[in-house]
Amino acid sequence: MIMQGKRGLVMGVANKFSIAYGIASSLRAQGADLVFTAQSDRFKDKIADIAAEFGEHEVVLCDVSKDDEVPSAFEKIAKDVGTLDFIVHSIAFSDKNELVGKYCNTSRANFLNAMNISCYSFTEVCRHAPNIMPNGGGIVTMTYYGAEKVVPNYNVMALAKSALETSVRYLASDLGEFGIRVNAISAGPIKTLAASGVGEFSKILDFERRRSPLGRNVTQQDIGDTCSFLVSDLSSGITGEIVHVDCGCSTVGVKF
Ligand code: NAD
Repeated sequence: MIMQGKRGLVMGVANKFSIAYGIASSLRAQGADLVFTAQSDRFKDKIADIAAEFGEHEVVLCDVSKDDEVPSAFEKIAKDVGTLDFIVHSIAFSDKNELVGKYCNTSRANFLNAMNISCYSFTEVCRHAPNIMPNGGGIVTMTYYGAEKVVPNYNVMALAKSALETSVRYLASDLGEFGIRVNAISAGPIKTLAASGVGEFSKILDFERRRSPLGRNVTQQDIGDTCSFLVSDLSSGITGEIVHVDCGCSTVGVKF
């Protein structure tokens, strides 16, 4: 129970297949109290049901693409439940029509929107975090290997993840004085709503399973348990890191 007595926010649950759902399950199993955000009213009821399953009731609306929704959500959480010890940001978006074919065909509008939702939103979350995390703590976001090497069809999302990974280092530097650690998990592929928008995703899953030293794909629990560690006091000396939770895929160059 490494999270006993800690309360935190999980942003990015859409359904039970979400990586954020796996993270919430692990955090709850480790004793954390949880608050959730929902992108819109369309998701709110489903997330409220999921929150209830964890014995929680607080679901706050927060569309990160809209000005002021992040600070307003934090104000509502501070008023309704109090301060936080950790935040999990598990949010990304691109028009799926541009997650297929060549990267060079990316439109300006989708480039900016993908960067805004998938990268800038994390900067905004971190900017407001010290107000609601007066005792310090951990913040974690989610990235993918496509930020480092070319993965077919990942396209603009790769650019957003590269920028996100760099922002993790700058944000860790900015928030260190508040006792807040900022890290990212580079997760292996896992079948979710967002992932199903990436062209030929099942081929990526299959390739990574075959390449993996462990001979399998990652699970929600693999990612969730690492996230629990990264927001817990057990990782008190780790900040500005990109931790690969990919069954070792990113360490393998050639495999016969
Ligand atoms: P998912 O579809 O379950 O979650 C994506 C979440 O982003 C959803 O809850 C959605 O509501 C939220 N979101 C999108 N636009 C938003 C907005 N404007 N405001 C607020 N929320 C918004 O998919 P997932 O795979 O669990 O994705 C979670 C994170 O994990 C993403 O950052 C994704 O890039 C990352 N990731 C996924 C994989 C994978 O293979 N699934 C691998 C590595 C990293």
